Amino acid sequence: MALVSTGALVLQTFPYSETSKVLRLYTREYGLRSVIAKGALRPKSRFGGLLEPFTEGTATFYMREGRDLHTLSGWDLVRARQALGRSLSAFAGASLLGEVVLRAATEEAHPDIYAALAHAWDGIAAAPTATQAERAVLSGAWKLVSLLGFEPQTDACVVCGRPVAPDEPVRFDSMAGGVACTRCRPVGRVLDPATRADVARMSRGYVPPSLARPGAHRALLRAFLEAQLAHDRPFRSLELFLEHAPED
Ligand SMILES: [Zn+2]
Repeated sequence: MALVSTGALVLQTFPYSETSKVLRLYTREYGLRSVIAKGALRPKSRFGGLLEPFTEGTATFYMREGRDLHTLSGWDLVRARQALGRSLSAFAGASLLGEVVLRAATEEAHPDIYAALAHAWDGIAAAPTATQAERAVLSGAWKLVSLLGFEPQTDACVVCGRPVAPDEPVRFDSMAGGVACTRCRPVGRVLDPATRADVARMSRGYVPPSLARPGAHRALLRAFLEAQLAHDRPFRSLELFLEHAPED
């Protein structure tokens, strides 16, 4: 058993007993981990009552290799991101990003995932408008799926492998995880070149200053997450995020 300290982002919490709760954390040095915060639900908890989703802190916990649940011994708050709780669309978008990490991350350290999630949550929290917050969510989602090993293929057909020209209309094959040329996929909705270019840029972490067709982006992300990551367990926050999308 080792006592470790690491930067940690709270993805999810749930009560464990009358006084304790379990936190699902994405940590900088130990990847995805679950810890139990004993006494966290008492009125005067030593953790200070700030163990909520989107919170970032330095977590100190006793780590037992081979165990699924470690014991939290200390929590030093770095950032609460309480702004994310003030708007339902921001909350839903930030929750969706946390859920993507919960679904696909492992216990292996991957500091880029940590940085991308923290950065996206900050971007959503700081966005002055709902449309800007939505772009931070879309960009964060594509960047995270890419870091998690699901980067969408946007420059060559997933079926025949032929490179597609930047201005060529293509189709999107969610199950195959990328674009397909119109010869290989003769039917279905066409993905326009601008939307495709935005997805490619967002996968590298770029937040576009505007999106020509935000509805197309929402539909694309939904189809991709459902095909690649949801399997039989739908994302809990995806519907909420789509329902509260800003007017186009
Ligand atoms: Zn093809």
